[in-house]
Amino acid sequence: MSAPSPGGSSPLPSPDQVQRASELRRLLNRAAHAYYVLDAPELEDSVYDQLYRELVDLEAAQPHLRTSDSPTQRVGGAPAEGFVSVEHRIPLFSLDNGFSMADLEKWYERLLRELDRLPAAGEAVPALAMVCELKIDGNALALTYEQGVLVRAATRGDGESGEEITANVRTIQSVPLRLDLADPPAWVEVRGEALIPDPTFVAINTERQLRGEALFANPRNACAGTLRQLDPKVVAARRLDFFAYTLHLPEEWPGDRPASQWQALRWLERVGFRVNPHAALCPDLAGVEQFVATWEERRRGLEYATDGVVVKLEDLRLQADAGFTQKAPRWALALKYAAEEAPSRLLRLSCQVGRTGVVTPVAEFEPVALAGTSVSRATLHNADRLAELDLHAGDTIVVRKAGEIIPEVVRVLPELRPPGAEPLQLPPTCPECGSTLVREEGEAATCCVNSSCPAILRGSLRHWVSKGALDVEGLGSKLIEQLVDRGLVGSIADLYRLDAALLASLERMGATSAAKLVAALAASRSQPWHRQLYGLGIHHVGEVSAKALARTFPSATELAQAATESPEAITAVFGLGAEIAQSLQQWFATAANQALLADLETLGFSLAAAATEETAADGTAEAQTRLAGQSFVLTGTLPGLSRSQAQALIEAAGGKVSGAVSRKTTYVVAGEEAGSKLARAEALGVAVLTEAGLRALLEGS
Ligand code: NAD
Repeated sequence: MSAPSPGGSSPLPSPDQVQRASELRRLLNRAAHAYYVLDAPELEDSVYDQLYRELVDLEAAQPHLRTSDSPTQRVGGAPAEGFVSVEHRIPLFSLDNGFSMADLEKWYERLLRELDRLPAAGEAVPALAMVCELKIDGNALALTYEQGVLVRAATRGDGESGEEITANVRTIQSVPLRLDLADPPAWVEVRGEALIPDPTFVAINTERQLRGEALFANPRNACAGTLRQLDPKVVAARRLDFFAYTLHLPEEWPGDRPASQWQALRWLERVGFRVNPHAALCPDLAGVEQFVATWEERRRGLEYATDGVVVKLEDLRLQADAGFTQKAPRWALALKYAAEEAPSRLLRLSCQVGRTGVVTPVAEFEPVALAGTSVSRATLHNADRLAELDLHAGDTIVVRKAGEIIPEVVRVLPELRPPGAEPLQLPPTCPECGSTLVREEGEAATCCVNSSCPAILRGSLRHWVSKGALDVEGLGSKLIEQLVDRGLVGSIADLYRLDAALLASLERMGATSAAKLVAALAASRSQPWHRQLYGLGIHHVGEVSAKALARTFPSATELAQAATESPEAITAVFGLGAEIAQSLQQWFATAANQALLADLETLGFSLAAAATEETAADGTAEAQTRLAGQSFVLTGTLPGLSRSQAQALIEAAGGKVSGAVSRKTTYVVAGEEAGSKLARAEALGVAVLTEAGLRALLEGS
């Protein structure tokens, strides 16, 4: 039962809030058990963090909802069975989390209030020095030294007591067995983080895979699992590391006692600990913000995982004044880096009809911040994926977006599903034209097969004017929508019949932009043949294959003849498969498409290569083996090529494309928002190319 309201004034929670809080408690408690006790997490950390925050916010708004079994009321997990449980001399606290600079500022303001240092109106905000340390994603250890000798090592456990793992910790080379102190105090308590460096983690998992054992989810779990090994020899073989960051000394010790966190780190170093070298002493909040921004990228070059920055008040006396909440010190904050996975609530399922008629289900959800951007939509690919996710109305979903990758719905959390929620499916009819949707036997795609569906027409027009195709400036999606909705354009060819006066009368168009657009359309007639071919939007004919086809078949007439009479001439083109040959055959056999080609010709399109364009005779065997023996990794968004285009070009020149950077990688091709692969290339000294560099290599210049 919930406790009575403390002030008696807050309204009672709604049934929805009661239900949500209870579901969140159940889910988070189960996840914490899997994480802390079983070392086998069920939820992504960032998803756990955000659902946890949702519960904290709910409990803050409705104190009736705070129950003693809430995960917000305790630190960590209970000690696992199989080890002796020991009580910590000084409890190990958790850390409060922040996720943004605004959270950092709020925390600072709270701290000033706690220390009675809030500025009066008009006064400057006082600057307090702070130490920034990397938040190492390992496992906290409590080490006890008596008369300078290591006598006990324990896990954090629930903060009050943990598991005694001294024999295992003795095998960690960076934990001193005796402190380098002439006159040590009766006891010293040291806290720090045990970790497994990434290369060791990869080696452990490879070995486990070979032995058919379950893999560790990440280095943190591997470390936790190792620390709980019953055989210290196994622990020794896994080469754990340890960074010390907290020091406790007896009050009565008369020796050289640090007065600040920075001095404490130096003290720990002097007596023999490894202290993380990347900490910084910052004079004020601006310094902290700079440290956090710098390490957001630099951390990717480290050999071990970090998930944020821990900000600690420098002055130990002020720390004592600020004190602790039930779970965490008020004088410290863990500022976590932008999440790549987050929970969100599904608002609706919408459908997109593409230019080929394929209907794609799209999840629209409450906006979430992921990898530094706000995300509120993700494609669900097709009906099979929709069924696999088992999506219901109002579901809480896990959304993922890692740097360069398109957002996706990873899964739903059925534990948080509203009662009686309806399962979601694709609609039976096209949301654009109302015709019945078709799904061919054995095909993943559901399609609208009405060739005059306005969505298909809009898609074809957008594709025709896009960058890689005819590249017509000034004809955006909104304008295309108007042209189709008003019945002014019924095919690609109709675009070339538009006159400036008519265009100028449309919404958000003026005489100047209308004239510019007509000129841009006229100029697009002289785009090379391969762009015209790509612009037609024939299924499977992408930019790269359009180029290859245009080189071998320098006109629409020659291509149409090959497609209908000798498809083997098409598959003989390097890199093209039977799918393209079949799709071309179908396309040219369709009367509407033949009419479109005839129409374009009367409008002045050559539909053939100009004398200056390169044809197959110029493509040499040398070009097809130019990159033989070289291996490439692609990362980030390239300005003019999609991933698959870049891959096809590299492969067509005899190179290989792989997903992971190693010392054997010849080049990493990096575009905008390149992530960890770029950092890894830099760390390993692998050469990095831009798209221009790649093109130069492909052209042999
Ligand atoms: P925390 O990980 O947010 O922060 C406290 C911990 O930070 C300390 O115990 C210490 O181990 C570590 N740390 C690293 N570097 C440090 C430094 N320089 N100074 C001080 N401490 C440092 O809090 P927590 O209480 O350990 O655990 C909560 C976190 O565990 C959550 O944020 C979540 O990400 C994760 N968790 C995940 C699941 C899941 O299902 N995935 C379940 C439970 C908890």
